Amino acid sequence: MSGLVPPRGGSISLDEPVGRYPTLFTNPGTPSHPKPRKGDVRTVRLRLLPSGAQERKLRKLADATAKLWNELNYVRLVQFRASGKVNFKDTEHEFYYRFNSVLGVNAGQVINLNNWAWDSFFKLFRLYRQGKLPKFMGKPSPPGFWKDRLLGRRLLRILVRNDRYYLEPINGGEGYLVLKDWGLRIKYAGRIKWSGKQGTLVIKFEDGRWFAYVPITVGAKPAKSNPKGYVKGIYEKIQIEEPKGSNKAFIDIGLNNLFAVVFNHSDTAILIKGSTIKAEYYYWKREIGTYQSVRDWLRNHGFEAWRRYHAYWLHAKYKQHERLRHYYRTAIRFLAKTLHGMGVDEVFIGYPYMLSQNNSNEYNTNVWWFNKVIRWLGEVLQEYGIRLNVVNEYGTSKQCSICNINHENGRIKRGLYVCELTGIKINADLNAARNIAKRVGYEAPIPKKILSYIVTTNGVKPLTPKEGVTTKTPTVKTPPKKGEEGVIYCLMVNQ
Ligand SMILES: [Zn+2]
Repeated sequence: MSGLVPPRGGSISLDEPVGRYPTLFTNPGTPSHPKPRKGDVRTVRLRLLPSGAQERKLRKLADATAKLWNELNYVRLVQFRASGKVNFKDTEHEFYYRFNSVLGVNAGQVINLNNWAWDSFFKLFRLYRQGKLPKFMGKPSPPGFWKDRLLGRRLLRILVRNDRYYLEPINGGEGYLVLKDWGLRIKYAGRIKWSGKQGTLVIKFEDGRWFAYVPITVGAKPAKSNPKGYVKGIYEKIQIEEPKGSNKAFIDIGLNNLFAVVFNHSDTAILIKGSTIKAEYYYWKREIGTYQSVRDWLRNHGFEAWRRYHAYWLHAKYKQHERLRHYYRTAIRFLAKTLHGMGVDEVFIGYPYMLSQNNSNEYNTNVWWFNKVIRWLGEVLQEYGIRLNVVNEYGTSKQCSICNINHENGRIKRGLYVCELTGIKINADLNAARNIAKRVGYEAPIPKKILSYIVTTNGVKPLTPKEGVTTKTPTVKTPPKKGEEGVIYCLMVNQ
């Protein structure tokens, strides 16, 4: 999947073969840093509300941008097929001058992005040839075209150099986006959370609406040559809170339980159920499948109506993505706030290792979302001054966290792990979370109190105690310790 904006450091990069090597990486900022760093970039999304004339102009510019990308990419692809190499310098020069009259210096941004895409491809390709890529990733393919394959229509995107635009906020929720090279002043709606130096602006047409993506290096001052290249938002730095303690949390991430969390300081555990996310995912998956088959049938039988179903199909794909994004982000916000309330200053999360999936497409989708979730979690935890470490969790779900043996039949039924030696039953994902703790040299007590939550459209809600009971460890029963009431209180307040 070729992203539109190059990764900016942070958690996962493509050349980190996932789930294969023991890895441990950390989110960039934790104790407040005086100077903003590479990882302190946050992207703000604003909805654009262009007038009719402005929209026509945006379409023209986006079309030219996609044309540049596609033609440049095509020439490079031909070179690659012929010689295995790409002449970056000459192609850059040729295409910059060809598109400079329409796009101005912004043509350079498109070329830079294409350079980056080819560069990442070559890196991956090298790893592939050395046999260092996980099997599921298959053979890497060169950068794709900005095109809807069926309609043959170009995808509408515009890139604007960091000194060729500025934002004029009217108030906290709206303002104007000024594009200097094209004499455009377009109304936007949206809240700007961060203040700092602006980067390359990306304008995208998504599901019938225009959006502006503004990357902001939080807290950084603009260059002297570009004093207006500064976005005024709410916060001047990413870390808004200080950790309240030095406790550690260990998280297993999955599909049934989105997050299973244990702690080194408490026998309370947290489960955030992924069932709503799963249901939403499968709902849209069915919709997408239906539209796709109707569309293909119509198309194969020469009916023009296939175009309408293609539009439905595109819409369903967009909706699926947006809904999942919303659910995951809601869950992540809640979790980060809860961990902060419990005095955590460091989190260890297992990087999911999923074995033998029969559907590689589904597998890729899951890996893609897990990467996103871990990255978002790292970003939100940073706001609380909590450090995030990503730990390879290979083997953590099979091992028994009570006696450390790999019981052959440990995972007796879905969701429950039974220790054959001691007879203790434990939620399987909490078992994995305890093993993650062991892997990094901590001991997490066997959970005695489990707080279960579910993600809903209106936020994260606690499950009723009765439903929560099914996830408890039945064989261990002790009265709650003193001081835990405080913990529960925090959790309730924070939801
Ligand atoms: Zn055991």
